[in-house]
Amino acid sequence: MQTKTAEILCVGTELLMGNVVNTNATAIARGLAELGLNLYHQSVVGDNPGRLREAVELALSRSDLLITTGGLGPTYDDLTKETIAGCLGRGLLPHEESRRAVLEHFRRMGRAPCPNNLKQAMMPEGARVFPNRNGTAPGCAIFGAGKWEGKVAILLPGPPRECEPMFREEVMPFLQEGSDTRLVSRCLYFFGIGESALAQKLDRLMRESQNPTVAPYCKTGEVMLRVTARVGKEEDPEPVLAPALEEIRREAGEFLYGVDVGDLQTALVRALLEKGLHVAAAESCTGGLVAERITQVPGASGAFEWGAVTYSRAAKERVLGVSRETLERYGAVSPQAAAEMAAGARRASGAQIALAVTGNAGPEPSEGKEVGLVYVAVSSPALSTVRELRLPARGSDSRAFIRELAASHALRLGLEAAWAL
Ligand code: ATP
Ligand code: MG
Repeated sequence: MQTKTAEILCVGTELLMGNVVNTNATAIARGLAELGLNLYHQSVVGDNPGRLREAVELALSRSDLLITTGGLGPTYDDLTKETIAGCLGRGLLPHEESRRAVLEHFRRMGRAPCPNNLKQAMMPEGARVFPNRNGTAPGCAIFGAGKWEGKVAILLPGPPRECEPMFREEVMPFLQEGSDTRLVSRCLYFFGIGESALAQKLDRLMRESQNPTVAPYCKTGEVMLRVTARVGKEEDPEPVLAPALEEIRREAGEFLYGVDVGDLQTALVRALLEKGLHVAAAESCTGGLVAERITQVPGASGAFEWGAVTYSRAAKERVLGVSRETLERYGAVSPQAAAEMAAGARRASGAQIALAVTGNAGPEPSEGKEVGLVYVAVSSPALSTVRELRLPARGSDSRAFIRELAASHALRLGLEAAWAL
């Protein structure tokens, strides 16, 4: 499909009231930018058919493509499809494939669908239907008739875990149909460098490079760079990607922990599985977060041996064999205690690599140790070390922030140990 200008309209009273952050708009806007489509407007409207109609008419009057999210569900306030199909001069018809998908979804859940659920299997005449792999409401592209001939509206479900994959997997390829080029991306994951420091190192590349484009995305303590090349349908993307990838590795390679890995825990589990290694974790201030994040990864059972939340001094002594003298002399938040925790966890678990975290996540200093002081340790045949972290205590959720970041540092250290073995 060839479009010139696009616009995003998110439907939902909860967005309008500020109860929900509009992450769908961000995700879609990024994808449109990767496709090189011009996005000039984003708006939000409540679940009200009159105001939705007004917003749709305005959008279609100035843009070729309208992408909406929300209001495709089964309840009475889910009116997006009916309303927009009406605007575009299209009636709703039963769609057999969607009906089967809804019935199959309810069969798997062991429940019977109510008539409302089958409303989701009615599709606008002539629409292109996008299946929903993570829920029941399919998305669709409606092609305008009559006065809106040539205009297209794409309707996506509201829940981000349904909307985002549908947009990436179904809608982006749809928007590229008929084009003689395709997009190929590599996602590079960094830890230990902030977005602005990374952007500064790669300033020229990020500002000037047109093909490939380089765009940063950040989350707690991490940055991901998406490098996207536009190449001919049959063209090899590697030569287009390579110079940018080389420049990034040259400038910031020491912080790069993986390509197309998703996150630290996935990178760690993959590295462990590749080498047939197991990891164990002894945690104090992270309360099991390290183990939780490792076990989020499918296949972790082949790489994760054992985890212990040893919060009290007694538990550190009894479960991990940390010496009383160390605890009394240096305290539980000390490099000595962290090293003994890791060594003890390795002994007790039999895993080749053991991680340990001990620190003060706040909000009050304890044992005279400041908030944000954390020690992460690793014990393994090739690498045994302790790192001192001074994590910033900021904002109302600084305890959660410190714990999350401490767990990330431990995972990063585990990855280093896995590489070294
Ligand atoms: P459902 O079948 O769940 O009703 P729906 O397509 O009708 O899906 P909505 O009812 O509009 O979608 O939204 C469902 C939930 O998805 C909202 O309560 C909200 O938590 C989330 N959501 C909706 N729109 C957005 C958005 N733009 N950004 C982030 N989250 C959103
Ligand atoms: Mg809904």
